Amino acid sequence: MGNRPWQAPSSLPGASAAGEGTAGRRRLSGGAWPGREKRQRPLMEAEEEEEETAALQEPSRQNSSPNEMDEEQPCISHLKDEVRKRQNSNQGSRGSNSSRASRKSFRLDYRLEEDVTKSEKDKDGRFMNPWPTWKSVTFRNVLKWIFTEKDNSQVPCSKQILDTNLPVLTPYFVQNPELFGKTGDGIRVTWLGHASVLVEMDDVTFITDPIFSQRASPVQCLGPKRFRGPPCTVSELPKIDAVLISHNHYDHLDYPTVVSLNARFGSELRWFVPLGLLDWMRKYGCENVIELDWWGENCIPGHDAVTFVFTPAQHWCKRTPMDDNKVLWGSWSVVGPRNRFFFAGDTGYCVAFEEIGKRFGPFDLAAIPIGAYEPRWFMKYQHVDPEEAVRIHIDVRAKKSIGIHWGTFALANEYYLDPPVKLKEALERYGLQTEDFFVLNQGESRDLKINDDGIE
Ligand SMILES: [Zn+2]
Repeated sequence: MGNRPWQAPSSLPGASAAGEGTAGRRRLSGGAWPGREKRQRPLMEAEEEEEETAALQEPSRQNSSPNEMDEEQPCISHLKDEVRKRQNSNQGSRGSNSSRASRKSFRLDYRLEEDVTKSEKDKDGRFMNPWPTWKSVTFRNVLKWIFTEKDNSQVPCSKQILDTNLPVLTPYFVQNPELFGKTGDGIRVTWLGHASVLVEMDDVTFITDPIFSQRASPVQCLGPKRFRGPPCTVSELPKIDAVLISHNHYDHLDYPTVVSLNARFGSELRWFVPLGLLDWMRKYGCENVIELDWWGENCIPGHDAVTFVFTPAQHWCKRTPMDDNKVLWGSWSVVGPRNRFFFAGDTGYCVAFEEIGKRFGPFDLAAIPIGAYEPRWFMKYQHVDPEEAVRIHIDVRAKKSIGIHWGTFALANEYYLDPPVKLKEALERYGLQTEDFFVLNQGESRDLKINDDGIE
């Protein structure tokens, strides 16, 4: 317990604001949460205890991208230089010689509180995006998008065509439940459609932005309807320890799914949610809820070695006509003794990802959105395109990434099969390989056992 060399001491102003203050974590019930309180400890004491980072192996299996591109893309040398620079930086921060050196470097980064962007509210008490890369979504622009832009998504009605182009597989844990949790020192990811991924690492299992409903909407007769999946039901899921919610839009916080997960797992399941969402979770019966501000952290009871940190993203929140941005939005950084995972949530491109990479990178795996990006004049502030997704992959120092937020709901105007094609083109421009930033079929899993030298 508490072997956390990168843990900031509670005396640091930033740690207090993020973890313990009124704007930080709040408890749902009066009961003591085991873990977090006991984990606060002085930095120097923590330095005495170094975790062993196990040498990990090469990925045990490879899957090919469903979309193959023949066209050769021109290489842009400065992009490749930048990737090389980051890879070298990866070696420095979590070095090839020993985990001890890398942890020390990481610990220093973590103390630079002034280097990260804190959440901000406007005069009406609504959260804001504190970056020049943000522009508010106005009603006028929503109308302009809907009525003047052509929808090129062209999702076929034929199930046969969809089954060929976007197969939905039965997840391994439904057919072979005995394999669940057997990830060794590695990390396993299963894509359950849209932004929902099931992650097994470091003896914990969690799911991101789960949606098992047919529609991303307040009602199941109107609103965006999924054209693929889900690959399994809530009752077919293995035992999960935690749910990570990035924000409250209907395609990321699905009421029927929350109710089903809560009915199945009850208070055994820990919900990590953005600041401002606790009351909503409580209203619908969830008891084990941890609400966090940006850079706030907590863990799952009984699993102190893995820390969940709510980190920034550039987006917005809304569920009802008047509740715009009353709830915060963000990404999640999951830092374990053997693996690190990053969930970008739903986001436009901004400088926050570089801060996240500096503080918590390199990540063994990142889940980054690649869909719902056209037209750019409207979407770019809230949704990255595949090129920007690659920038995030580089910024957070991900060793591998999985493309999410595509192939499930037609939320924007790009052709429904474009995201992985454009992703492949962007990877080529940056001198990266298809397997560095891969896509999976819905229901498909990938095991990653990555060497700790930062380079595959
Ligand atoms: Zn959203």
